[in-house]
Order: sequence, then structure tokens, then C-alpha cells
Amino acid sequence: MKQNYRDILDLSKIIYDKGMVNAFEGNLSVRTGEGLLITPSQTCKGFLKEDMLVETDMQGKVTKGNRKPSSEILLHLEAYSIRKDIHAVIHAHSPYATAFAVANKPIETKAYPEMIVLFGEIPLVKYGTPSTPDICADLKNHLHDHDVVLLANHGIVAIGKDLYDAFFKLESAESIAKVLLLSHMLGGEFELPPDEVCKLHEMGKKGFHCP
Ligand SMILES: [Zn+2]
Repeated sequence: MKQNYRDILDLSKIIYDKGMVNAFEGNLSVRTGEGLLITPSQTCKGFLKEDMLVETDMQGKVTKGNRKPSSEILLHLEAYSIRKDIHAVIHAHSPYATAFAVANKPIETKAYPEMIVLFGEIPLVKYGTPSTPDICADLKNHLHDHDVVLLANHGIVAIGKDLYDAFFKLESAESIAKVLLLSHMLGGEFELPPDEVCKLHEMGKKGFHCP
């Protein structure tokens, strides 16, 4: 089996087992030389087989496979068009990050160094009807300088140089969202002093300088 196929099958199972997608949610793709390899529509990520995956060209037309590609293929094509440097996209509904998305809150903090250094902020992409071009309309305003974004009232998207890179970012974002949400139950975040927050942003973001 080709490595791309192996990686999609392995990571689909992992995100299903970790509860980041239920049976009807989520999709993964890899940019191949000439198009995409993507998970099929309406198929549980925990039980995918090699012959269920679909290859398409960069317009989304199927070039190999018997299934329909994921209904969110437009989201994937738009992500690759915005970011020429990436080769993998994962869209999931991991519950803690998705809770922020459903509440229409970006993930940001002045209290958790891990989050500030790794992501700075995880922005909220404006709502668009799932499975339609509307879902992508606001993506270009955020994906240029963020590898993880929330889709308002919907879920989360992580991109990377390969599927593992995208998955590690997704996993980090989800665990950070969980910590922040739980801290709200304990009375809220205890913020670090502004100069320390600034120092952390400087550590994380290339070209960021504290005043
Ligand atoms: Zn979705």
C-alpha cells in the first residue's frame, strides 16, 4: 500500500478512537503530485479500507476510486489553494475545540504559555453552510498565518506539511481547549503579567517583537 493511503487510514482510525469525530463527521486529505487523496463521504473514520479512499484532481473531480469524496472537499481544495506550502488537511469536530467554535469564541489566553507559544491565537472563521462553498468564504482571511482555525458553529481545521504534522497540531489545540474550558469551571484563567505574555508571544511567533 502506498504511504499516503497508509497515513490516511492510520490517522482516520486514531482521530476516531480519540473521539475527535463521530461516525458521520470529519475528513482528511493529502496533496499528491497532481491532486488529492481524500476520505470518502458518509463513511466512519474508524473502519476505512484502502479501496474506500478517493483520488481527485485539484478541481475535485474523481480520478480514482468508487466512492464519492468527502462532502467537505471544497474546504480542502481551498486550504491547498491558500497555502501552497502544505500537504495535508484534517477537519474534525473534537469536542473541546468545537465547543469554542459553537460558542463563537476564538481560542486565546493570557494564562497558558503552551497556547501562546504554539499558536498565539486560534482564530474563528466566519460561519458558512457545511458542504457548500460558503464554508470557505472567510478561510483566506485566517489560514495565511494560522495552521489551526475554528469554523464557527461547526468544528476545527488543522493543516500541515504532512498528515502527522496536521494531526499533532489538532491534538495540541484540542488539549489546550480542554484545559482552558476546565479552568473556567474553577473560577477562570489566572492571567500572567503583560510583559510575560508578550515574551511568550515573541518566543512563538516569528517577527513578533514586544514594545
Ligand atoms: Zn464538519
